[in-house]
Amino acid sequence: MSRVAVVGGGVSGLTAAHRLRTLLGPEAEIVVVDRANRLGGKLYTHRIAGSGYDLGAEAFLARRPEVLRLAEELGLDSELVYPSGASARIRAGGHTLPLPSGMFMGVPTSAEAVRSVLSPEGCRHVERETELPPPRWEGTDVSVGELLRSRFGAEVVERLVEPLLGGVYGGSADDLGLRATMPALAEALDAGAPSLTEAAGRAAPAPSSATGQRPPVFGAFTHGYDTLVRGLAERARATVELGLPVRELHRSGGSWELVVGGAHRPRTLTTDAVVLAVPPPAARDLLSEVAPEASVGFGRIRQASMAVVGMALPAGVEPPSASGTLVARGERHSDGTPFTAKAFTFSSTKWPHLRGSGGQPLVRASVGRGDPAELRGSDAELLRLVRADLAELTGITAEPVETVVTRWGGGIPQYGVGHTETVAAVEEAVNRLPGLAVAGAALHGVGVPACVGTGEAAARRIAGQLSRD
Ligand SMILES: Cc1cc2nc3c(=O)[nH]c(=O)nc-3n(C[C@H](O)[C@H](O)[C@H](O)COP(=O)(O)OP(=O)(O)OC[C@H]3O[C@@H](n4cnc5c(N)ncnc54)[C@H](O)[C@@H]3O)c2cc1C
Repeated sequence: MSRVAVVGGGVSGLTAAHRLRTLLGPEAEIVVVDRANRLGGKLYTHRIAGSGYDLGAEAFLARRPEVLRLAEELGLDSELVYPSGASARIRAGGHTLPLPSGMFMGVPTSAEAVRSVLSPEGCRHVERETELPPPRWEGTDVSVGELLRSRFGAEVVERLVEPLLGGVYGGSADDLGLRATMPALAEALDAGAPSLTEAAGRAAPAPSSATGQRPPVFGAFTHGYDTLVRGLAERARATVELGLPVRELHRSGGSWELVVGGAHRPRTLTTDAVVLAVPPPAARDLLSEVAPEASVGFGRIRQASMAVVGMALPAGVEPPSASGTLVARGERHSDGTPFTAKAFTFSSTKWPHLRGSGGQPLVRASVGRGDPAELRGSDAELLRLVRADLAELTGITAEPVETVVTRWGGGIPQYGVGHTETVAAVEEAVNRLPGLAVAGAALHGVGVPACVGTGEAAARRIAGQLSRD
């Protein structure tokens, strides 16, 4: 009988635990250890105004197959929901405008597509991009912010690219590498696109055909991600140990030894294999002895922090008919106060099923563009600031009936310049050690589908090795 430890009970670790169970069968002992007092990690459904509301990840990319397949396998497909189709807005240059559609992650496919959001000077920069000499791109990597600023000017970065990329990574475009965060754009450049405008045109999804509707881009779970977390935990039938950090990882003969628990009363868990599905700082520490090169790689991956403020508005106080509003860096209220939130989701408009039990509209504000100072205030202060932002954007001043502030310290790994090489080196070092696998948001995408993919791959690697032994 094999015993496998899964360190980290976020979606990556839980997917690995579930897949290990299906591959190793009922006899295997699977132990999931998490230092938090609940499973799910960045998947966190909180009850607000009587309804389950996601305050970590709220959706998944439905154009990728991983979550859809997993939901089907777990018998949860009837729980899936898709957005209403309401469109998004952007606050830029002092105006709240429809988010342009002719872009790839904020990179314009033509000057015309983004004219509404840019100043005349900003627009001229975009027009001239195709006349510049081809981008100097030797197939390596470059900072998104630096490359796009040099081609399109600062406005495109501040008003379009950062708000869109910031929604995924939370940090600054200057700290993100093109190859890992915009792989389709990098591939278009690899293939010789003569300009960034042309590369964005090749990378952007084709416009919907006149005959058929495009499938929905995003999906979610009707009762929140808690449904997925519970579904995975039930199927994994693992021994779950919560509130216990794994402090050390050692190799002893053919086994693994994990030092688990508080500094005063640690105990040792001995297993045949280990899946590490923890954020980069924990992975760096745990791998320092057994896989020093992988530890160095994880040490290179920075994390951005953020906060999510959930609000239930009084029934009858309706937000605008948009799915939400992104706020560009540097935007100010009409009295000069800087905006605190980087985005609002008008959740009940975007997801019509999502309302308080008495019909209260739910609104979610995201804070954090990579500067720790933004998150220093108390919860009450953060709430006051985002309510002022909401009033400026929508005119809504009504006191919410319920609020919750959730802080995600080190919430999202930052895929910096050279990230794909860092990850390749990490995986190569880990793969040299039988019975060890890594999974998680630091590797092949921060989104939930990519995390599911890493959990699946880690489980398959371990199960393949154990069944050969
Ligand atoms: C605010 C926010 C909004 C997001 N929105 C979306 C979205 O809408 N769509 C989307 O696809 N993605 C979104 N993401 C990204 C996505 O949620 C995460 O990347 C993903 O959930 C990470 O899963 P994971 O299992 O890799 O890591 P985590 O969820 O971070 O899980 C890691 C677990 O490891 C545990 N741990 C850490 N150290 C130790 C240790 N030493 N010993 C034991 N346990 C340890 C932690 O407690 C944690 O539970 C969002 C992220 C955030 C923060």
